[in-house]
Amino acid sequence: MTKKCIYCKSEVSSESVIDFCERCGVGVWGEKMFREIVKNMETARDNGDLCHTPAPEKALEPKQETPPFEGPRFY
Ligand SMILES: [Zn+2]
Repeated sequence: MTKKCIYCKSEVSSESVIDFCERCGVGVWGEKMFREIVKNMETARDNGDLCHTPAPEKALEPKQETPPFEGPRFY
């Protein structure tokens, strides 16, 4: 199953974490920022933060208080 780029409607790999193609992503954010975004999205997906299939037991847990950010860092 494939999805389509939200900008140019060309096909995007269903394995992609983003809803747009690389060409558009780079066009919107610039190559460096785009790479950063994709990397962050993939990291988030690997950590299960991206809720395509939310785990029920996890969703019911009260959200832990997050420590203050030291900067715009993503893991
Ligand atoms: Zn596109």
